[in-house]
Amino acid sequence: MELIRPSLVGTKPTLNRVCLITEALLRRNMNGSIVLFGPPGAGKGTQANRIVNLTSKPQVSTGDMLRAAISDGSNLGVEAKSFMEAGELVPDDVILGLISERLKMEDAKDGVLFDGFPRTIAQAEELDKIAIVSAVVSIEVPDDSIVTRIVGRRMDPETGEIFHVNFNPAPETIIHRLIQRKDDNEITVRNRLKAYHEQTSPLALWYEEKGILVKVNGEQSIEEVGDEIISKLSEL
Ligand code: ADP
Ligand code: ADP
Repeated sequence: MELIRPSLVGTKPTLNRVCLITEALLRRNMNGSIVLFGPPGAGKGTQANRIVNLTSKPQVSTGDMLRAAISDGSNLGVEAKSFMEAGELVPDDVILGLISERLKMEDAKDGVLFDGFPRTIAQAEELDKIAIVSAVVSIEVPDDSIVTRIVGRRMDPETGEIFHVNFNPAPETIIHRLIQRKDDNEITVRNRLKAYHEQTSPLALWYEEKGILVKVNGEQSIEEVGDEIISKLSEL
């Protein structure tokens, strides 16, 4: 369906109406969960907020859950830490344990927004048994841009908001409190990209064959990437 006809674009009320139609279509099409897919640094976390606001599905980031387990000092955190610091994938059984517990929570009953999960075919197969996946959004960014994005990424520990030293600078007033993830360095990112190409990227074809893969050009501005995601999701 063609959502934004050039003849309709131009006036603000018309634009608002087009946005409302797009949002309504998106809600209708997305009964199950949505997966944000792509290499490290593609912009999954950055785009998650907008989709959460539109769909009211909670964001489920396995990376955030693992980092929380590490800072709590739990056994699971201890097990995951060395893999994460080396830029390797955490074993499937650890991840699947986390996910199955999370999906039992009340707010997950109408589906969630997965960010960084699944990352292996085995994870995707298990996910298929416990949840309905309506769409997989693949944010496509070449390796050369990934390294620059990861090394410049900063996070606000108070709000969880993600910034970039050049591409999405934080306001002056909060710069002092920003943190850089320990695994956001050039050596680890090369391992993470290797893990992505060897273990995760085959999943794209797996989901494409199921007819639910949506490919988005991740090398546009943050806003343009978000617009493309929403427009393609509402057409699915
Ligand atoms: P992921 O969750 O996929 O690892 P993030 O959302 O954390 O990726 O983004 C990685 C880095 O790239 C962050 O510093 C973020 O500000 C920046 N970034 C995200 N989207 C874009 C974009 N479209 N253009 C430039 N930089 C971006
Ligand atoms: P990014 O989006 O920048 O790659 P994440 O926060 O998603 O970072 O993940 C950080 C690390 O946590 C990964 O490099 C990996 O070690 C681990 N991890 C997160 N999600 C998974 C997963 N689904 N399967 C295996 N390991 C994972």
